[in-house]
Amino acid sequence: MPLTKDTLLNLNSKLLSEKERIEGELNCITKPSLSSNRETIFNEIGTDEDENATEVEEYTDNLAIENTLEKQLEEINAALIRIKQNSYGKCEICGSDINIERLKAYPSARKCTLC
Ligand SMILES: [Zn+2]
Repeated sequence: MPLTKDTLLNLNSKLLSEKERIEGELNCITKPSLSSNRETIFNEIGTDEDENATEVEEYTDNLAIENTLEKQLEEINAALIRIKQNSYGKCEICGSDINIERLKAYPSARKCTLC
């Protein structure tokens, strides 16, 4: 069953608000730098060795979260592009329609449940 225009609009706005949420979260853990690249905040806690270990740990945590969020953001952007190109809702692997319930639960899905 093809996606109706209403469903598509609904999913489009879902993707947009999800995008906004993720960008907000990214802004919390990163700070804008002069280049277009985001710079992960490296909190200065102290200079003795234990404290430095904590700094590195926090930095690594932030980096992992940042990577996850950026990946989600990429998926969402890709889904938004597919909507514009009318190729949204098709499985990337087998080309069949992705279940609408699945798209509602996971709007950036690229594959059908079988693939
Ligand atoms: Zn498939």
